[in-house]
Amino acid sequence: MKLILFGPPGAGKGTQAVKLQEELHLPHISTGDIFRYHIKHETDLGKKVKAILASGELVSDDVVVELVVNELGQEKYKNGYILDGFPRTVPQAEALDAYLSEHGTSVDHFLILTVPEEELIKRILSRGQGREDDTEEMVKNRLNVYHEETKPVMDHYQKQGLVKEIDGVGTIDEIFGRLLDAVR
Ligand code: AMP
Repeated sequence: MKLILFGPPGAGKGTQAVKLQEELHLPHISTGDIFRYHIKHETDLGKKVKAILASGELVSDDVVVELVVNELGQEKYKNGYILDGFPRTVPQAEALDAYLSEHGTSVDHFLILTVPEEELIKRILSRGQGREDDTEEMVKNRLNVYHEETKPVMDHYQKQGLVKEIDGVGTIDEIFGRLLDAVR
């Protein structure tokens, strides 16, 4: 099963992706986590994307697509995976579709976690993970980027009839139950 977990920053994608990974026995790929790993370890890629992450803007499509395609080529993804934070632009979605179609496969589920904007801002500012991009100004910028560049990805998958909206307000377990119902 190939599943895209979608939603604005603060919707709880990361938390739910980890739980889905355990329950469905599928690896989880978070492009944000991969970038943060590279920044922490000061790799060439990390140096290239550090300022971009700190500003809340998006890393360029060619860099992200190359990273994801290299990752998906690994053996551990052969039975499926959960994508979290990718695709985040329509060109990324088109590149993913093309890659999957070359391999005779396609996305199975596109789940979007919906959470009201005030709640998102509150959650991000209180999550206290000390992420460099979690200041109020940066959070607002990330939400703008989401509306302008990322939300159209949903329309892209809507055309394929894959989108399921999941209420992202409730306890972690309630939301997890809704996600599982949607894929089973
Ligand atoms: P996230 O942890 O998913 O919120 O991602 C943190 C940051 O990493 C984003 O604000 C972007 O700067 C960058 N990033 C993660 N995934 C992508 C992507 N698919 N395309 C472009 N930039 C990304």
